[in-house]
Amino acid sequence: MKKKLAQKYPLVWKKNNFYIKIFCSIPNIATGIIITTPKAKFIVDPGDGILRDLNKDYSPEEILNISDIFVSHGHHDHIGGVWSLLTYLSVMKKKTPLTIYYPKGCLEIESIYKAFIEVYVNELTYKIKLKEIDNSKSFKRKEITIKPFKVNHKELSDDGKGTIAVPSIGFKFTYNGKSICYGGDTAYSNNFVKMARGTDLAIIEAGAEDEKESELHMTMKQAVEIGETAKEYFLVHVAE
Ligand SMILES: [Zn+2]
Repeated sequence: MKKKLAQKYPLVWKKNNFYIKIFCSIPNIATGIIITTPKAKFIVDPGDGILRDLNKDYSPEEILNISDIFVSHGHHDHIGGVWSLLTYLSVMKKKTPLTIYYPKGCLEIESIYKAFIEVYVNELTYKIKLKEIDNSKSFKRKEITIKPFKVNHKELSDDGKGTIAVPSIGFKFTYNGKSICYGGDTAYSNNFVKMARGTDLAIIEAGAEDEKESELHMTMKQAVEIGETAKEYFLVHVAE
């Protein structure tokens, strides 16, 4: 029997023309998020199925307008759709550049990029720019301010006895006076607490298997506590 109620996806929020749709965020399966304004289309954590989800809502021309991809960390449930999305954009003859932001040390994105370029070097129709993020300096893209911040995500070591830190970041997106704060996967983190406070929408993982505090994920109680400091919040990545 399932321990917790499965989250009902998609989750949608919109204020002042700032729109976000979380197609899904299911641990070990997939995450997929789109953020748009009248001028911008960003993808956050393109897990498996992102192309199928985008295809339901957007025309090929609209998908070609995606300019930036933001990756919180390299776990497969957050990047499983990168290869197919990059391929689709080339098959459909994207001309404008695509930038991928990812945390420093995220080998998965660099490996996918390297292999992808090797396979498609002769037919790639657009430029892919990799932007490794190593600090929390804000920057602006398409009138959206993006503030990256470090979070605290770990995975079990191979022997299952200890934990290893995973290069991981969250992002706060601000547009037209409204802000969306996404923490990716993270255990309780003071940085995330600070960034989520007062934000218009906080997206918070509550991935712990039970209510025992853990190094790996946040408990429902911790996630709700952070959520209550934001104006509105979604709990995601809830264990099913
Ligand atoms: Zn993860």
